[in-house]
Amino acid sequence: MIKGMQMGSSLKIARIWGVDVQVHWSFVLILVYGAFLFSRNASNVLVGALYGVVVILLLFICVALHEFGHAIAAKHFGIKVPHITLLPIGGVAQLERMPRKPLQEFLIAIAGPAVNFALAAVLLPVALAVVFTTMRVGPMWLMIPTLMRTAQSVSLTGLLLFLAGTNILLGMFNLLPAFPMDGGRILRALLALRLRYIPATRVAVLVGRGMAILFAIAGIFGRDIFLLLIAFFVYVGGRGELEAVQSRYVLKDFNARQAVNKDALSLYTSEPISRAVDYIMTTYQGDFPVHDLGNNLVGVLTRPRLVATLRGQGQEGRVVDVMIPRERVPVTSGDTTLADVWEKMLERGSRVIIVQDQEEFLGLITLDDISELIQVMGAAKEREDMIAGGPGGRVAATTAEGSIHN
Ligand SMILES: [Zn+2]
Repeated sequence: MIKGMQMGSSLKIARIWGVDVQVHWSFVLILVYGAFLFSRNASNVLVGALYGVVVILLLFICVALHEFGHAIAAKHFGIKVPHITLLPIGGVAQLERMPRKPLQEFLIAIAGPAVNFALAAVLLPVALAVVFTTMRVGPMWLMIPTLMRTAQSVSLTGLLLFLAGTNILLGMFNLLPAFPMDGGRILRALLALRLRYIPATRVAVLVGRGMAILFAIAGIFGRDIFLLLIAFFVYVGGRGELEAVQSRYVLKDFNARQAVNKDALSLYTSEPISRAVDYIMTTYQGDFPVHDLGNNLVGVLTRPRLVATLRGQGQEGRVVDVMIPRERVPVTSGDTTLADVWEKMLERGSRVIIVQDQEEFLGLITLDDISELIQVMGAAKEREDMIAGGPGGRVAATTAEGSIHN
């Protein structure tokens, strides 16, 4: 899997090739599940349970290698991968930004499953060699059931067969055209060679939804909770990606200078916090640039920051003590397109960005401003495209917030 957004509570376990490897807390559940599953196949329950834990750990090393496949391909195209997260339903490689060239997306997406097939190509011959030298497999038509039974047994041969088989399944499953899974991205990339990006995404999302419904049905009848989770992920994830692509399409026609609020109020470092509260109550503004007495920009006070301060210490204190210092706020030039501005804000996890030309401060842009612009200009653009017969389709109003809280 590849993703462009943040995941919840995860623990960092390693840093490899500059990529943080994180494990989601719910991963513990899958270890317990593995222990339970294999404890039934062994004569000694404890040995079986331990074996189950080892199998799941090795399996997740394969999943991590799959994600490193994506990460290495992404790095090759200059896209940073801050971290890889391992979840019970698989892994997620977080890309700093999505590739915009179809060929790049294709190669990054296919690199993951390619790793699984490569692993299987190494493991399977070894496993089969062991099977043929140590066991009687009988005639051809008995071979597959024998191999499947062996793969579930608690033994070294079983382990090799299980890992080889699972890698083949992992590779094939990820190639199913269920956007935003790998196969769906490959489909979108192929469609984007002929179609524009938005219609290509829309088709990929529709095919993905069909797959999600099939996963859900298979999950219900097969009583497989993982398939249900994946169905949910595909259904919700596809919609999110489509909205992101559509929003980008709207935002690329505007630059940062056009979006700053020229009449914005400023706060001064020495002012009490209660001044910000006054402003929020009496104006539509929620985020403020903070200047010192020499009128230099020194920081920003955002609404969430103010709310957190009020909860912690009330209205006591001065603006300077609670503002976010300027160095920690991303900066952009007036000519940058809003699509790039938005991306930078999401990348840095910041709800505000400073717009300046050379040293001159032009104003702030917040995620609220961006959401509003997507909504208003998206509607206008939708109408223009309908008249001009352009790329067409609804431009959805999206919440630009993601998981940003600062
Ligand atoms: Zn993948």
